[in-house]
Amino acid sequence: METNAKIIIVGAGISGLATALALHRLGIKSLVLESSDKLRAAGIAFTTWTNAWRSLDALGIGQSLRQQHELLLGINTFSTVTGNLTSYVSFTTKGKHGDHEVRCVKRKVLLEALAKELPNGTIRYSSKVVSIQDSDFLKLVHLSDGSVLKAKVLIGCDGVNSVVAKSLGFKKPSLIGRSAIRGCAYYNQGHGFEPKFQLFVGNGVRYGIIPCDNSAVYWFFTWYPSSQEYKMVEGADQLKLKQFVLSKLGKVSDQIQGVIEDTGVEEIVYSPLGYRPPLQILTGDIYKDNVCVAGDACHPMTPDLGQGGCSALEDGVILAKCLANAFLEKSDHPTKGSSENEDDNVKIRSSLNDYAKKRRWRAFDLISTGYMLGFLQECNWFGMQFLREKVLSAFLAGFFLSKADVNPTELMLTA
Ligand SMILES: Cc1cc2nc3c(=O)[nH]c(=O)nc-3n(C[C@H](O)[C@H](O)[C@H](O)COP(=O)(O)OP(=O)(O)OC[C@H]3O[C@@H](n4cnc5c(N)ncnc54)[C@H](O)[C@@H]3O)c2cc1C
Repeated sequence: METNAKIIIVGAGISGLATALALHRLGIKSLVLESSDKLRAAGIAFTTWTNAWRSLDALGIGQSLRQQHELLLGINTFSTVTGNLTSYVSFTTKGKHGDHEVRCVKRKVLLEALAKELPNGTIRYSSKVVSIQDSDFLKLVHLSDGSVLKAKVLIGCDGVNSVVAKSLGFKKPSLIGRSAIRGCAYYNQGHGFEPKFQLFVGNGVRYGIIPCDNSAVYWFFTWYPSSQEYKMVEGADQLKLKQFVLSKLGKVSDQIQGVIEDTGVEEIVYSPLGYRPPLQILTGDIYKDNVCVAGDACHPMTPDLGQGGCSALEDGVILAKCLANAFLEKSDHPTKGSSENEDDNVKIRSSLNDYAKKRRWRAFDLISTGYMLGFLQECNWFGMQFLREKVLSAFLAGFFLSKADVNPTELMLTA
């Protein structure tokens, strides 16, 4: 069976849904193909920085998400070696482009908010894309159930193991030997934490405790596992992962330790960490003809800056704006003798080229800065511990704000 859609988006994660909603806000229809039979909110929650809130406002869902997630006032960094506070960076300061805004958002709530705003039938579940084929100016998208869809534009938002990125010539993201364990504890009577991001660094580990709202406290833990630890955590059940994290916390208060202890094992997730080497972003094809990639499919990065999901929201808004130029502008001077498909293809390629130009350096910057931040924070060399605790702590935490300070006019949804 063959179906036609002008724009096909592969993947209903943050990036796919943000792109579909941004297109919808500009009056452009799309079809989102999702391999799962429902929205997949893997990873529980994530920190959303100023750039994400500017994008969410452009998408028209900022206000409802604000009501459900607490505003964070700043970031405390502690040493897990001494237990001391090494820096405090306030989030209530102004950036170059206005006020900062930081919250920890539950992934399920975000995905549902994005999906709810889309017209019925935009998301097609249980639709796994297995291959992509050229057909003149169109792409044929083959699904695992044997059906084939035709697209004028194909957008890969299919995450780190993207089929679309592979079709553009990208290799799989490189594993960097680091791992993450995440979880969330729920307190029906209130958790009693201040609305602050608490970051703990030292002894080769890095972890954070962040309240999402009155009851939910999200946490993450990243480190370079030794080969023995790697073997253990890879096959470990969630209870073992929790015990492992508890054994690695270092000097912290009972309240912090309590968050890990209070986390239900079903809430615990393990992930090996990878990234796209930044040079591949500069030299590879973020787009080719009428195909492009966004979100993790384009720029998988380590989670140290907390920008993977935030920049996926940015991608969606900027990509939709670029595509609107192709789909909403009527050509005054169609090329003589060329078909409608041919004319459309020229405009689509030009708008995707524009998108790639706007995103390439941004992705390069976020991947490189995140990698550097993770390296410096997890480095276990004594000299580095000294520098980190005495000199660099506030400087490193400052990257969270500076990299999120995107000019709001770049994220306004006008064609
Ligand atoms: C430990 C950790 C902590 C993080 N913390 C943060 C943070 O604090 N802040 C932040 O902004 N980011 C954070 N991130 C990064 C963030 O999670 C990702 O960047 C974000 O989820 C990427 O969204 P996406 O939509 O591009 O990809 P995904 O969320 O992976 O979505 C891809 C979707 O595509 C679907 N799919 C895949 N293949 C196919 C196919 N062949 N056919 C159809 N559908 C398909 C999948 O089912 C999925 O629904 C963190 C990541 C990790 C690992």
